[in-house]
Amino acid sequence: MKCNECGVNDELCLGGGMNPHFHPDNLHPQVIYRPNIDIMYHENVDIVHDLETGIPFHDNHASAMRAVHLLQHFSWKNVPFFLKECIRVLKPGGHMYIMVSDLEWVFQQVLVEGLTPGHVCSIWGEHDHPSDFHKCGFTYPLIRRLMEEAGFINLTPAFKRNPWEVSVEGYKPHLLP
Ligand SMILES: [Zn+2]
Repeated sequence: MKCNECGVNDELCLGGGMNPHFHPDNLHPQVIYRPNIDIMYHENVDIVHDLETGIPFHDNHASAMRAVHLLQHFSWKNVPFFLKECIRVLKPGGHMYIMVSDLEWVFQQVLVEGLTPGHVCSIWGEHDHPSDFHKCGFTYPLIRRLMEEAGFINLTPAFKRNPWEVSVEGYKPHLLP
């Protein structure tokens, strides 16, 4: 839906890169979130912007937002700020979906089979371009706790594709404390 205030679609894809059509949410597989905001230009990117500095939308713009494999590209020091930005930009009751690598799963695998190139990629990033490095990492309890501290409610594990991923969804409360 278009936002009454600015006229832009109110479902945002945060850091979707070349693949904003990825549907992590099996409840709404047909829904494509645009605009897609990413630090690197690509023909599928609608707004080029460094999300680590904030989300370039006004308060209460979005009904729903997705950040799939975005947060591990930020400094861990900026993650609480970014999650607060998500709360700011979401409408009351708005839906947030976050997917990151699950370092608990990766570390368990490393203890069993040793450190493989695949695990190195999960921990430190794919290194395909200058922004494609991981600066931090998460487990389910950690990302859930950070979302809770930012103000999200009704947090639950969400649909994910692979065992090395972890997904959480939650909502901006209707009444902020
Ligand atoms: Zn708006």
